[in-house]
Amino acid sequence: SARHYSSEPSLQATEENGFKGHSMLAPFTAGWQSTDVHPLVIERSEGSYVYDSNGKKYIDALAGLWCTALGGNEPRLVKAATEQLNKLPFYHSFWNRTTKPSLDLANDILSMFTAREMGKVFFTNSGSEANDSQVKLVWYYNNALGRPDKKKFIARSKSYHGSTLIAASLSGLPALHQKFDLPAPFVLHTDCPHYWRFRLPDETEEEFSTRLANNLENLVLKEGPETIAAFIAEPVMGAGGVILPPKTYFEKIQAVLKKYDILLIADEVITAFGRLGTMFGCDMYNIKPDLVSIAKALSSAYMPIGAILVSPEITDVIYSQSNKLETLKIYKERNIVEHVNKIAPRFQEGIKAFSGSPIVGEIRGLGLILGTEFVDNKSPNDPFPAEWGVGSIFGAECEKRGMLIRVAGDSIMLSPPLIMTPNEVEEIISKFGDALKATEERIVELKSR
Ligand code: PMP
Repeated sequence: SARHYSSEPSLQATEENGFKGHSMLAPFTAGWQSTDVHPLVIERSEGSYVYDSNGKKYIDALAGLWCTALGGNEPRLVKAATEQLNKLPFYHSFWNRTTKPSLDLANDILSMFTAREMGKVFFTNSGSEANDSQVKLVWYYNNALGRPDKKKFIARSKSYHGSTLIAASLSGLPALHQKFDLPAPFVLHTDCPHYWRFRLPDETEEEFSTRLANNLENLVLKEGPETIAAFIAEPVMGAGGVILPPKTYFEKIQAVLKKYDILLIADEVITAFGRLGTMFGCDMYNIKPDLVSIAKALSSAYMPIGAILVSPEITDVIYSQSNKLETLKIYKERNIVEHVNKIAPRFQEGIKAFSGSPIVGEIRGLGLILGTEFVDNKSPNDPFPAEWGVGSIFGAECEKRGMLIRVAGDSIMLSPPLIMTPNEVEEIISKFGDALKATEERIVELKSR
């Protein structure tokens, strides 16, 4: 952290200068920077320019942090945000809830991404969070496919994938690891594809790419392909120094990934939405990823938002895991209603045959649901003394015989699985009858006390 990196200080953040002091713990900021040097306080923006608190004008040659693609003060974005904030500042997307802007945005993103067909969009709050979520999604995917060991990630030296624990682990910059106990153990790093810096003497760009692809393959083989889940790469490396892929690099890397069934994640957090002169970096380098991370220019940084694009192959696996859908599929496949109608008459008739019992007031039900009420004298007006707990006696007698039911006071309920076989129906009827008989005897005994 060389001191000359520090910007010309503008205003010291002191009370005399209208600030409440400097209580902010800043990221990517060395200790000496926050103690010895006052922060550069940026106050407003206009197009490609920003102004500090002294009114000094700067051309913002990094677009914030590679993100304010439409510059500052774009009135259409301010208007859209204001309208939405007035209408609905927040709603979540848990439990299949969402908002129209979210649905529309997901559709627009998918229609703009044409490097290959993508299935769905998952929203996050930042690029770092998008990459963290990529890891969860890939792990979920491999668990769903019954490949619990296929969990490692390969990233590249000098890559930048964000600042959270996992995104910093994926990043290949030592400063993000040292003193933070990172990277996480499931992350491996392979070569940085910087031809100018890392080529061997007389090596062509194509030969350099071949060597890097071979190194990747060797790493995969050394670790075991069955343990490698995904490879993550920025189409053009950003924070590592703007490093362009050498000729044939992505073609050769993708061949290795395909060979060992390793997912490719394109981290397009910087490159998406036109930065390279194509809408996405994947268009520029003919990358066909399984997953894509975007953020930054997605909102021109007017609000924090990121997203993951998920391939249809992966969404298919995710949906196949949804037992809600699977359940409905089984109902249809097994004609469950037809089955219920086949066994229900015997179930109802078999239990209702006990209606004559002196302790039963009513047995009612249809299909595979049934309720019974215990009363004295077969009258709704003659409950048994509550302290006898007749319903519970019946419940206990059922349990003794190996049958679980539901008891509520002196009424009891049955709602057996819809898959019951005729034999199982007979078992319920028989156990019901035996438990009822035992309960009757118990009541005779209670009455005679
Ligand atoms: N991936 C890349 C390629 C990035 O450049 C960045 C941010 N510079 C991130 C991920 C992290 O995004 P964010 O800052 O929104 O968390």
